[in-house]
Amino acid sequence: MASDPDVVIVGTGPNGLAAGVTMARAGLRVDLYEQARSIGGGLRGESLFDSDITHDICAAVHPMAVASPFLRAFDLAARGVEALAPDVSYAHPLDGGRAALAHRGLEETCAGLGPDGPRWRRLMEPLLEHSAGVVGMVLSPQRAVPGDLAAASAFARRALAHGTRLAAAGFRTEEARALLTGVAAHAVGPLPSLASGAVALLLGHLAHSGGWPVLRGGSARMAEALADDIRAHGGVFHTGRRITDLRELGRPRAVLLDLTPKGLAGVAPGLPAGYRRRLARFRYGPGAAKADFLVSGPVPWADPAVGRAGTVHLGGTQAEMWRQETRTARGTATDEPFVLVVDPAVADPGRAVSGKRPVWAYAHVPNGDRRDAVELVRARIERYAPGFSDTVLAQRGISAHEYENHNPNYVGGDIGAGAMTLVQSVLRPTARLDPYTTPLRGVYLCSASTPPGPGVHGMSGHLAARSALRREFGIRKAPPLGPESTPPAAPKRRSAN
Ligand SMILES: Cc1cc2nc3c(=O)[nH]c(=O)nc-3n(C[C@H](O)[C@H](O)[C@H](O)COP(=O)(O)OP(=O)(O)OC[C@H]3O[C@@H](n4cnc5c(N)ncnc54)[C@H](O)[C@@H]3O)c2cc1C
Repeated sequence: MASDPDVVIVGTGPNGLAAGVTMARAGLRVDLYEQARSIGGGLRGESLFDSDITHDICAAVHPMAVASPFLRAFDLAARGVEALAPDVSYAHPLDGGRAALAHRGLEETCAGLGPDGPRWRRLMEPLLEHSAGVVGMVLSPQRAVPGDLAAASAFARRALAHGTRLAAAGFRTEEARALLTGVAAHAVGPLPSLASGAVALLLGHLAHSGGWPVLRGGSARMAEALADDIRAHGGVFHTGRRITDLRELGRPRAVLLDLTPKGLAGVAPGLPAGYRRRLARFRYGPGAAKADFLVSGPVPWADPAVGRAGTVHLGGTQAEMWRQETRTARGTATDEPFVLVVDPAVADPGRAVSGKRPVWAYAHVPNGDRRDAVELVRARIERYAPGFSDTVLAQRGISAHEYENHNPNYVGGDIGAGAMTLVQSVLRPTARLDPYTTPLRGVYLCSASTPPGPGVHGMSGHLAARSALRREFGIRKAPPLGPESTPPAAPKRRSAN
């Protein structure tokens, strides 16, 4: 009979897979369990509506993946996973056929923003100059003084100016105000807030560097590349296995859970009562109601320039978005929610087959909202792209309430695995010096509920694995992650008794 693996990972989202790569590359035997029939979590893709066209079920756009120190070292491109960034990273249509565009080029963006061009440049240029420092600070365990103080200071000053009501005075034109607020809305919470300001600055400046790419063929390609590497280093996957109790996992030296605090509390009966109470205080954010469409042509945006963008934010003016997002975060449903739309074929023409293409969209709704996404999202798109409904060949919606059935990590449809409040942005999941550890020896959390939080970057998984390598195996050196690198010799295994 095979002995227990060194490491067990529960959940195979990008963070579970990143943890798996890091552990397997350190020469450890890794087993991974996934409740769904396929691996990938937020990276899953499916051919819906009996067509050959792949729809990204969750994540579709990958500015964080391009910037992520873990994924850069892993080198997706060298493994055939191609990031395709559109010329226009994101667009924000307004009523009356107007729109603001964030081009990859800062110059072009500033030129399009008229009197606010110089302000946009002053906002973004210092962040672009210090991009490595900004990314290093945000995509970190967030428990230490930032290494690049110039980057931290540029970032903090701008977060204060654009994450508070001062933001209303930040720009003169409605276009520029809406353009930045649409990015802030990715924080999925009340607006304005310091957390949303930080999100706007991180994603906003990445739009002008690596861009906001989709992956050729769909996000699942990234999951496949990570899984291939794990298998090549001896890792074993068990799909269709929902773990309900840690005791099902035998006696590995380390268990890494790609789960939320609710998931951890559910599988770990041995947790001390005090810690269990702290987990229960962890707050989940608003939900996402997702719609998938198969359409007969590009989205007929009132301003055709919007069609050059991979991602489109539908939220109206800054004041409208502040109102909608704040109401949604407080649990009040609005008929005109913030909606994100992605037309992946703009950057990846191969996703359009015989004139048909996928359109991906979701609305921000109160946690647990039961409304069907399709009508909600369609009405919003129609407002800025009249005639969209006539192009729809097939559609399906997943309500926020239903999302948890697809993936237990999306509690009430919260796709961020925890509200992005200021406290929870820096002290997730609880206030522990090493945020990945739990009171149970050898048991770690590695999901987006830990720093640096949501998004496809794999950093939570990688950083949790580094912590477990240090604490459980005495391995302090980061294992090599690149495709050509040779893993170190396996550390000495614990004897069976
Ligand atoms: C609609 C939607 C759109 C998004 N868009 C983007 C985007 O464009 N760009 C971006 O960067 N991010 C996006 N995200 C967010 C991104 O997908 C998540 O932040 C990311 O997937 C989190 O990774 P994770 O590994 O922590 O968790 P997940 O990806 O959620 O993976 C957790 C895994 O654990 C499994 N699991 C849970 N409980 C158990 C159990 N008890 N036993 C076994 N397995 C279990 C789940 O099935 C799942 O596979 C989106 C998410 C959604 C839902």
